[in-house]
Amino acid sequence: MRHVRKGYAGALRVDDGTGLVISRPDLQPDLTPVVERGVVPVSYLNSYVAEAEQPCAFCAKRTPHKRGYTVSLADGRIALCGHCCADRFFGREKAAALSSDYLQRHRLAMLRQAVANLQAGIAVVLNIVGEDIVRFEHRALQALHLVHRSTRNLSLRRSPIAGIDVLLAGEAGTPARVSQARERILSWARIDPTSAPPKQLLAVMRELANVDGQMRTGLRILSDAATLFRPENFKHVTDFCRQQRRPIDLFSLSRDPDGQLMLHRQPRAAAWPSRTPEPPSVHRIGSLPRIPDWLGLTSYGTGVSEFLQEADWMNTGTRKAKARRRK
Ligand SMILES: [Zn+2]
Repeated sequence: MRHVRKGYAGALRVDDGTGLVISRPDLQPDLTPVVERGVVPVSYLNSYVAEAEQPCAFCAKRTPHKRGYTVSLADGRIALCGHCCADRFFGREKAAALSSDYLQRHRLAMLRQAVANLQAGIAVVLNIVGEDIVRFEHRALQALHLVHRSTRNLSLRRSPIAGIDVLLAGEAGTPARVSQARERILSWARIDPTSAPPKQLLAVMRELANVDGQMRTGLRILSDAATLFRPENFKHVTDFCRQQRRPIDLFSLSRDPDGQLMLHRQPRAAAWPSRTPEPPSVHRIGSLPRIPDWLGLTSYGTGVSEFLQEADWMNTGTRKAKARRRK
């Protein structure tokens, strides 16, 4: 069994905020300079990656090392141990156990740190994607649904009208992606990263890419919708409806005195004169908010993307879980 996973040790960033990877081990007070032969540590306190070589407390000649661990002894003393000395002085098995315990603590600390970083960016995200955008999303999807339902058999979607492709988002059952992603992000803000169980923190990091994608797609749809529903642009839709030979629903936009946009639907003439025609309807779209460019969730919390790059162990976990499910 390898006691330091290949690649992991190389991925350690000095002073990464976890307090478990340090660059100046010599600044720790009360370091024991020489440890008697046969004494084995009870745990690794941190690992160091130092500019200047640090004398090892376990080697007879106090060999200097740039990398190693600060270890704690059963009697409470602490000392430095070079990275390549542990096997020799503590025995392979003991060294492996100490190192794996340390790595586990470091991973958990990184995970807690990453969720905390993510949370630090949530206020920015909520500010960029505000309630006005959520409101617009619900109204816009309904409006798109009304227009799409009446025009899906026509060539409207192939007309050269700005944003017209977004009519596809008028399919029944299109989710309110922005609002759903925002809810998920809000739920993350309620987690305490210092005490939450690792499982819950991992779930957040695994959900991140999915929520990010939802937000990106949702905002792109809203951006197109805001383009389509610009009154001067929507006139082309109204013209299209008017130009159809067969009677179809006529859609038009108006602004009420407060500047709120209203979508008007004038239903087609009833197929049989005996039928009572449907009454016209009005659907409020409201004001068109400015739809922000989405830079990606990880860009709003510092260090989150670095964490994801380093955290290949998380993917290993996922692969294992998948393999188990396949069995
Ligand atoms: Zn040594």
